[in-house]
Amino acid sequence: MNEKLQNQLYEKYPKIFGQKDGDPARTAMCWGISCGDGWYNILDNLCFLIQRHHDDPREELERYHKYLEMSVEKNEEDNIEFWTNKIEETKQLIENRPQTQAMQVKEKFGSLRFYVDTVDPEIDAYISFAENMSSCTCEKCESPGNQS
Ligand SMILES: [Zn+2]
Repeated sequence: MNEKLQNQLYEKYPKIFGQKDGDPARTAMCWGISCGDGWYNILDNLCFLIQRHHDDPREELERYHKYLEMSVEKNEEDNIEFWTNKIEETKQLIENRPQTQAMQVKEKFGSLRFYVDTVDPEIDAYISFAENMSSCTCEKCESPGNQS
């Protein structure tokens, strides 16, 4: 992928591409994003979904804290209990959902391969979708259909 597009992805998703300057013994990201420019939009959408999956519960937690404060101010016992439990649940979810980082991004047998360092069924589903999309999107010019 040309450097300009690659750097755009690095800048938009710095947490996902945190290994881009990593040790070659530990990560293949030091080789960069090894596929054609035609897959830029697929990668952009994939990274957006991965990052949102990580950030969503963290944003929800802030919201729940505000609701709890409001319930405390109004002395609403049921709501205090509800939001306290919700906060606990969300904290556990966050603990079980560490930031996903890309380990290797490349083309193989005409389709995208996006390897990550976390195990998460939702992220795996996003990746499968992106890889399937890539196999029917030209790696060079982004047009639908097979490689040309
Ligand atoms: Zn083409």
